[in-house]
Amino acid sequence: MTLESCVIAEKKPLLTVAEAQQRIHEAIVPLTESEIVPLKQAFGRVLAETVFAPIDLPSARNSAMDGYAFASETFSQTLTNVGTSWAGKPFEGVLKMDECVRIFTGAVLPENADSVVMQEHVTVNSSQIIFPEDVKLKKNVREIGEDVRVGDALCSANKILTAVDLGLLAAAGVENVSIIRQLKIAYFSTGDELLPLGESLAPGKIYDSNRYSLHGLLQNPCYQVTDGGVIFDDKDELKRTIIQAASAFDMVITTGGASVGEADYVKEVLDECGEVNFWKIAMKPGKPLAFGKIGACYFFGLPGNPVAVTTTFDIIVKPAVARLAGANVKKPWQFAAICTTPLKKSRGRQEYQRGILQQTETGEFQVVSTGHQGSHILSTASLANCYIILAAECTNVQIGETVTVVLI
Ligand code: AMP
Ligand code: MG
Repeated sequence: MTLESCVIAEKKPLLTVAEAQQRIHEAIVPLTESEIVPLKQAFGRVLAETVFAPIDLPSARNSAMDGYAFASETFSQTLTNVGTSWAGKPFEGVLKMDECVRIFTGAVLPENADSVVMQEHVTVNSSQIIFPEDVKLKKNVREIGEDVRVGDALCSANKILTAVDLGLLAAAGVENVSIIRQLKIAYFSTGDELLPLGESLAPGKIYDSNRYSLHGLLQNPCYQVTDGGVIFDDKDELKRTIIQAASAFDMVITTGGASVGEADYVKEVLDECGEVNFWKIAMKPGKPLAFGKIGACYFFGLPGNPVAVTTTFDIIVKPAVARLAGANVKKPWQFAAICTTPLKKSRGRQEYQRGILQQTETGEFQVVSTGHQGSHILSTASLANCYIILAAECTNVQIGETVTVVLI
């Protein structure tokens, strides 16, 4: 690239965060390959097919209370207790005129019974059960199918299965489910200055922290994650490693070397061995971010600065991996909050400043800056529970102004 074309390229308006997110959404084709696993192994995974109820829930009419069951048609104030219906051991007979049974929660009602009265509301006189004057008929009965009908959708395709979902599927007797296969992701750090933990720091060297952040950020049962280690600032080595990784993984993420320095080869390498969808976005932190594809593998070249890594991951990469994994992705909720510290901001890029969101006793949301906002300042990022989103055109924020926040 000549100096002149460099300058022209620089002057092109950067993609906005929303445009970048949209381009990623369009570029990513969700995985569809599936595997069948026992229900417990499906926790946190993406359902491949809608599961329909094989039975009604409840599958039998049963009692919601410990009490006495009877038929409302033949009810009289005093009934004779003729037996017991236990959970798991129903009363076998049919109730005759003036008869009731002792019944426990979850126990099946005798065929012709339709009412249960709580044990606390009756008077027991040996086998004679005396019901209250104001007895309510046809109460405390759980009807067949009132939860789920045979054939109803229990859980829809592309849902991430929660603990409640596992309970629901188990209640319906579903033993195995079909889930989307795990997404294979590899991540690498780049940089000659990086040292692994355990080594002594030498002049100019720093510990590689990005791979630790990514390790945490990628904890998810839907992902099978490989730490690829450090790639030195050597273009050939970078190229070789990325090409090799692209053939084995669904997604490759690198950090560092994505900018315009002499030792920044990521964008160049992506250009040479794949397709660059975009490079650089109007986001702070996180401007030098490359997205593209190498063969069938999606590639993210994240910035090197540690806070730019975690922020671009949360805002850009996280929805992308979730989409590739086949999950229904919902936009995270945003809140309006009163800013209680002044914020420095210059026009140009959308900023994601680190903040602490809290709720006052009256329910109002307030947000305070965590302090120094440099993209190398991990300590203030560690204090944050939210990003304060400041639009590209916005400038300094004064105390008392309303800002938009999103939870981390
Ligand atoms: P770069 O984009 O490679 O120029 O990196 C930008 C800044 O992030 C530099 O100060 C790097 O030393 C730092 N950096 C890059 N990679 C890492 C990493 N893995 N861990 C910690 N800092 C890093
Ligand atoms: Mg570097």
